[in-house]
Amino acid sequence: MIAALRRPQGMKSFSSHSLVQGFSGAIGNTPLIYLKTISEKTGFKIFGKAEFQNPGGSVKDRAALGLVRDAEERGLIRPGGTVVEGTAGNTGIGLAHVCRARGYKCVIYMPDTQSQEKIDLLRMLGADVRPVPAVPFENPRNYNHQAREFAESINNAIWTNQFDNIANAKAHYLSTGPEIWEQSQGQMDGFICSTGTGGTLAGVGRYLQEKSGGKVQVWLADPPGSVLTSYITSGGTLVERTGSSITEGIGQGRVTDNLASIVNDLSGAFTVPDSKSIAMLYELLDTEGLYLGASSALNVVAAVELARRMGPGRSKVVTILCDGAYRYQSRLFSKKWLASKGLSQSLPDHLRKYAVL
Ligand code: PMP
Repeated sequence: MIAALRRPQGMKSFSSHSLVQGFSGAIGNTPLIYLKTISEKTGFKIFGKAEFQNPGGSVKDRAALGLVRDAEERGLIRPGGTVVEGTAGNTGIGLAHVCRARGYKCVIYMPDTQSQEKIDLLRMLGADVRPVPAVPFENPRNYNHQAREFAESINNAIWTNQFDNIANAKAHYLSTGPEIWEQSQGQMDGFICSTGTGGTLAGVGRYLQEKSGGKVQVWLADPPGSVLTSYITSGGTLVERTGSSITEGIGQGRVTDNLASIVNDLSGAFTVPDSKSIAMLYELLDTEGLYLGASSALNVVAAVELARRMGPGRSKVVTILCDGAYRYQSRLFSKKWLASKGLSQSLPDHLRKYAVL
């Protein structure tokens, strides 16, 4: 062996990961990252679960596998069957990978307002992508209803129904939650994340509450335009959805069945403005070297805020780093786009150099 490449005595190899089976086996067991500079700057201890390291690139790989496995275990789908979902984002990507690896056809309905890049990626992953007119949920032609109807119309097919099928939350209860508990050695005070389907928050949150005997506080973080914070803080009043956010994949207009499985046991909720999320997104890159999507940045802002709200002696907070910035970089790192969202002034001078597009 070349001397220079010899491992010095006592130095560990990079990875302690074991040999796994295929794409499905590579999902999960992601690192829990101590966010050193953000922790030192704030005086809290902030940790991010590196879900961007899943093989399909996001936290939704776990849900995709959980939904398909659940259908297999319940005998709802047999080899060669078809998996159908209405999704414009990470769940579709996760499902497309899982379906290729397990020998299923994958049909994805999405609103026709989605970017060509997303459509191309799903098609490259072997999915049959069906863009349909973007109409509200109440309209029977909405992409979700079309997905369900198509699955019902053919043999050996399932509609995975990520929002209201609690096999989604179960995947996180059985994997993400236990991993976080073990990695933090139970030494944590709070868990917070934003929600789309609510699967991550419900599954992880419930596991941590049970394991800690209620000591770990579980909170929800919202982007602007989501109704969940007002629903939770008002004790159950659902208001009309208004406003929007630069974040993608999070925010809701209703309490999904996944979220319903934890919503009454949350310690609280609050909204994070886009100006803070975008500044954190750039700061995470500048100080931690992490290139993350906007929902991850929002989650880190929320984790710091939760530590502040919990007060002295309760400073260890865990959140989710959902995906990387790669899928959104043409927007998040574009000066023009930032200006169009009124966010140029949200970046401190020393971070502006990263907006190179
Ligand atoms: N962040 C991103 C980037 C996502 O795509 C999603 C899923 N839509 C979430 C966060 C939220 O995860 P969940 O659906 O488990 O609430």
